[in-house]
Amino acid sequence: MSSTTPTILDFTSAVEYLKTDYQRDGLDVKSLLDSDKRGGMTYNDFLILPGYIGFASHDVTLESKITKRISLRLPLVSSPMDTVTETDMAIFMALLGGVGVIHHNCTADEQAEMVRKVKRYENGFILDPVVMSPANTVGDVRQVKHEHGFAGIPVTEDGNLKSKLVGIVTMRDIQFHRDDTTPLAEVMTTDLITAPEGITLAEANQILRSSKKGKLPIVDKNNNLTALLSRSDLMKNLHFPLASKVDSKQLLCAAAIGTREDDKERLRKLVEAGLDIVIMDSSQGNSMYQISMLKWIKATFPNIDVIAGNVVTREQAANLIAAGADGLRIGMGSGSACITQEVMAVGRPQATAVYSICEFANRFGVPCMADGGVQNVGHIVKAIALGASTVMMGGLLAGTTESPGKYFLSAEGKMVKAYRGMGSIDAMESQKSADNAATGRYFSEGDSVRVAQGVSGSVLDRGSVTKFVPYLQAGLQHSLQDIGVTSIEALQKGVRKGEVRFEIRTVSAQAEGNVHGLHEFNKKLYA
Ligand code: IMP
Repeated sequence: MSSTTPTILDFTSAVEYLKTDYQRDGLDVKSLLDSDKRGGMTYNDFLILPGYIGFASHDVTLESKITKRISLRLPLVSSPMDTVTETDMAIFMALLGGVGVIHHNCTADEQAEMVRKVKRYENGFILDPVVMSPANTVGDVRQVKHEHGFAGIPVTEDGNLKSKLVGIVTMRDIQFHRDDTTPLAEVMTTDLITAPEGITLAEANQILRSSKKGKLPIVDKNNNLTALLSRSDLMKNLHFPLASKVDSKQLLCAAAIGTREDDKERLRKLVEAGLDIVIMDSSQGNSMYQISMLKWIKATFPNIDVIAGNVVTREQAANLIAAGADGLRIGMGSGSACITQEVMAVGRPQATAVYSICEFANRFGVPCMADGGVQNVGHIVKAIALGASTVMMGGLLAGTTESPGKYFLSAEGKMVKAYRGMGSIDAMESQKSADNAATGRYFSEGDSVRVAQGVSGSVLDRGSVTKFVPYLQAGLQHSLQDIGVTSIEALQKGVRKGEVRFEIRTVSAQAEGNVHGLHEFNKKLYA
């Protein structure tokens, strides 16, 4: 036997053997992201090594803080962009356990109205239904059906909510009616089953069931329409166990503002409408404007939590933490519709930015949100492993049913929705029509020559967030299970202690980790 043959150890001692000073696989987080040696890294540049699975994936909890005072059951946030978050997105993100941040590329009154609708939302009740008047026509109903997919429309005296209910028109009423110009007065059903304002969801549900109708108008004591209940909504809405609520009643709502003088008035309106969290929306948050706004908000509205940013270095973060930020938003140039790094030569690769800021801010108890560059579940897990408490997404949520805008067919015949950077020329131009002239995120909106920091384009149809977000949630649970941790807290603790290990991916490792060698394939992500 040669002297170089290794001694064979007793196999039962394998686990114990690892506890000696045996070299562990992978890198700890600090060695991974040592930017002095390696330069900035992105999510795709590394992987997390698997651990031990000693529990089922559904036992993994995903609770995490978004601000010093507020936690979410699902660490997902939709971005304040005018192609991502308005009322519907904010409602459904909150129902699903995350939160939506309502954009401010609109008048203060419009933004406040969106916040109000989120806060007034009651599961199952539509507080802002499409309403018509008896003078509307069969063609108008067909148009709504075509655009929104439903045709059960209440008819009131003047065609508005809070006006006397006089009928309801459904597909059954107009199905065989050939003349689109016929007024609804001639076709609508006037024999109505309604429910009084204040009725509980369970009671209303019972009425819907026994009446076998698709829609139940809710009226006040003067028979004015105040809301609508829809059977199909009821079926899909009732069960939202993770919903983000304040005092277990109203949905949690966040909104973005700028840092100009008139943003103070805007914020007053948002607070009046019930806002819980405000995000100061700037691509470079370490500024005198933001610090003075932050101090003003903390002094004027002590009950509102303020997220400051965006930042990508510890030095930027330190100023905002010292000024009282309840949370930080991290990212500069990593967004999918963003050209900041190219044009301004300023920014930072996102994985390095997230690690640097979180490592620093978490020492002061300030939760951080990783914003931008998230293309899949894996990126969310990596952001959280690097210390982020929550993850903000724009492009990934933009093609959903709940995002603003309509679907259209792309040149290749695919269903798409518009998605644009808020620093794109398109978005900045549209600010001219809003009453505040400029929101100021990119410090260029009011200038005679605007410097774009974003592009406008489109993203593929992703279906409803009521399916897509639960997919992200289940994906996160499976990922944490693979890593061998049962919660976000356990993951971050494991990373800090050097127990959760990482590995750098070479370019060919990245190619290997993706589909390769197939002639063709169908990448369906969930069913
Ligand atoms: P995404 O999830 O990768 O699409 O990135 C969304 C994030 O990109 C947003 O939350 C913003 O922080 C950022 N963003 C939005 N519009 C622009 C822009 O025009 N230029 C640069 N960054 C942008």
